[in-house]
Amino acid sequence: MQDTILIVEDTAFFTKVLTNQLRKETEFRIASATCYAEAVRQLDRIGERIFLALLDLNLPDAPDGEVVTLMAERGVRSVVFTGTVDEPRRELLLQLPIVDYVVKQGQSSVDDLIRLIHHLRANSGYHALIVDDSSTARRHFGGMLRDLNFDVLSASSGEEGLSLYRQHLHNIRLILVDYAMAGMGGVEMIRAIRHDASVDDLAILGISGTGDPTLAANFLKNGASDYVAKNATREEVITRILINLDRLRHVAKLKYAATRDYLSGLFNRRYFFDSGEALCANARREKLDIAVAMLDIDHFKQVNDRYGHKVGDKVIINVANIMQQKLRESDLVARMGGEEFCILLMGAGGEQASDVLNGLREQIAASVVEDNGEAIQVTISIGLHVGLRDSLEQMIHLADEALYRAKNSGRNRLCS
Ligand code: GH3
Ligand code: MG
Ligand code: MG
Repeated sequence: MQDTILIVEDTAFFTKVLTNQLRKETEFRIASATCYAEAVRQLDRIGERIFLALLDLNLPDAPDGEVVTLMAERGVRSVVFTGTVDEPRRELLLQLPIVDYVVKQGQSSVDDLIRLIHHLRANSGYHALIVDDSSTARRHFGGMLRDLNFDVLSASSGEEGLSLYRQHLHNIRLILVDYAMAGMGGVEMIRAIRHDASVDDLAILGISGTGDPTLAANFLKNGASDYVAKNATREEVITRILINLDRLRHVAKLKYAATRDYLSGLFNRRYFFDSGEALCANARREKLDIAVAMLDIDHFKQVNDRYGHKVGDKVIINVANIMQQKLRESDLVARMGGEEFCILLMGAGGEQASDVLNGLREQIAASVVEDNGEAIQVTISIGLHVGLRDSLEQMIHLADEALYRAKNSGRNRLCS
């Protein structure tokens, strides 16, 4: 398992600042070395656990970036720190076998580095696809994609690219595609892919070596996320790729936030109705069993009054976690507000739904939330409605009436 970041740097202060920041913002273990010889010892000790090495080019016993070659020879991915970037230095850096370089100039460079680390981790296990009829271009861009920790697929024609894309659909985050190829060209391929995957879900960068100034617009207007010339520097290509991956990440985050309840991580009310209506329509078409349950924590106000709102939140989270563990992936579970939850059980008849829900009720009643040495236990009441009605709203209303009966007949029970 690659769970360690190795810092090779002779300035103790910089290592310390960086270590603190990395500990705070990533889950990696941090190892360090202050000279070349120590870097060798660390490689011997934990070489296969190193996810990334952060390297200073000037070390007391290796003043000319020898440590970069060392890491490359041992197959360790690295990023270089540099104090300055004038033109000769940039030329030199661009030739090194490194993922990228970071300029040592305070907080913003540390932020850049952490962003890069997040990308490298997020890309792990995902594919990037390079589609180009030139094997040189495939090698050139494929190498960069590999440095970014992608599992690289390559295709030498638009047709082959499209077919690889369709085989690996859910695992592809990024595609680089050439403009002119025999048979299907890049633009045509992008148009075909954009039928299934929007710019919010998949990044596609057009590439071309012709220098024709109309190509960029043609790519962009036909669904490319961005365009990069084949003679662009490695630095530009990597930067553009990261910007486009950032966009995917931000959209995914927003989508997640819009459908989830912040406190419990369960789906929210809005998502429950959006997705629930579709599930009901599907159940109607396929003649599937369906059941709706409303759940409400008993005497929850007393928990807040006695232990405080924070502890109340802990209790809500505990109940939500148990629901998530206990229910199937095909069931839709949401927090509707306050201490009230709703579940759509797919493919469940009355008896099966009652069994599952009573099991859930017993498990919640038996679970304990600890606070300051106090053990807090709550029960829940459940109202169940089995079978389709005209609308989801109507089904929820019937489940709500059953919940009311469960409350009035003593709580900690299920009524249907
Ligand atoms: P019953 O058994 O009849 O359901 O009684 P109850 O006390 O659980 O019901 P009631 O509706 O009277 O009180 C619910 C309480 O839940 C009131 C409200 O302050 C509290 N509450 C709502 N949302 C949250 C939340 O997000 N966190 C916490 N800690 N409390 C919340
Ligand atoms: Mg070509
Ligand atoms: Mg309640």
